[in-house]
Amino acid sequence: MNDERTPRRQSGGRPVLAEDRAVQDIATPRRTRDLIAKHGFTFKKSLGQNFLVDQNILRKIVAAAELDQTKGALEIGPGIGALTQQLALAAGKVAAVEIDDRLIPILRDTLADTPNVSIEHGDVLKLDLGALIAREFGGLQGVSVVANLPYYVTTPILMKLLEEKLPLEHIVVMIQKEVAERMAAKPGGKEYGSLSVAVQYYCVPELVCIVPHTVFIPQPNVDSAVIKLTLRDKPAADVTDEEHFFRTVQACFAQRRKTIANNLTAFVGKDRRGLVAPLLEGCGIEPSRRGETLTLHEFAALSRALIEAGLPPKP
Ligand code: SAM
Repeated sequence: MNDERTPRRQSGGRPVLAEDRAVQDIATPRRTRDLIAKHGFTFKKSLGQNFLVDQNILRKIVAAAELDQTKGALEIGPGIGALTQQLALAAGKVAAVEIDDRLIPILRDTLADTPNVSIEHGDVLKLDLGALIAREFGGLQGVSVVANLPYYVTTPILMKLLEEKLPLEHIVVMIQKEVAERMAAKPGGKEYGSLSVAVQYYCVPELVCIVPHTVFIPQPNVDSAVIKLTLRDKPAADVTDEEHFFRTVQACFAQRRKTIANNLTAFVGKDRRGLVAPLLEGCGIEPSRRGETLTLHEFAALSRALIEAGLPPKP
């Protein structure tokens, strides 16, 4: 954790000294505690409220997002504005979505001197993010999501960002360390599963850093990690029907200790079990393998073969 008066250098510009700036860093333990006391704020564990109080970690998050004045940043869950403030220095525009109405007046206070930030009160899972991006970032040359996510809804938020095919360059997020490891996992290990396949189908994942639980107020029970997902121009595998592909992947991981043949039999129906082994062999997949050994391309080939065979049959 660093001193609030540490000089920093803006990309391409002269060093910006704390005394030059109208704003004080929010992400220090003292300033965070002062703001919380000033506004009489109490944390809601149910909303995943763990505020970051370390400027070095913030800098790593912001640097990973590759922002400049031509780019926009969409933040999910600004809290009291610790990350928002740094994003506002790095990007042309920041839009931040916060669910907790008690934080809106605090954000208006802490971000009073940052005119390129707009705050949206709402649940990110319910918002039309495509419309929000079009409205807030028109004229900019790229948008990235940058956030310290509430851990109770990490996966639904990320799947919404990916499945809605939003026009994003990067997603740089702080999440629970185990979830980050699952997203970046390669075939063959115990971390590799349907989340790894879904994320890697849409993005190239990169683990930026591991973050100890001590840099938050209040401290969570788990360690965290910053992960950077760079959106692919087109998905990583040739899939004819995405819904069928993801259902096939889920089916192959349904019971991790079972072979792929056994999991697929449950998927297509026991009365069609005789079709499973030839179908797998036709895709070059040994039926005794487990789902966790299949690559994205093998899952895609399997889904295409199942579709051609009319499996699973419509109910
Ligand atoms: N960005 C701040 C920081 O780094 O200190 C706060 C991060 S805190 C881990 C998560 C934030 O997400 C909280 O402010 C919480 O109220 C907000 N939040 C939780 N669920 C949300 C949802 N569904 N939509 C939008 N914001 C949400």
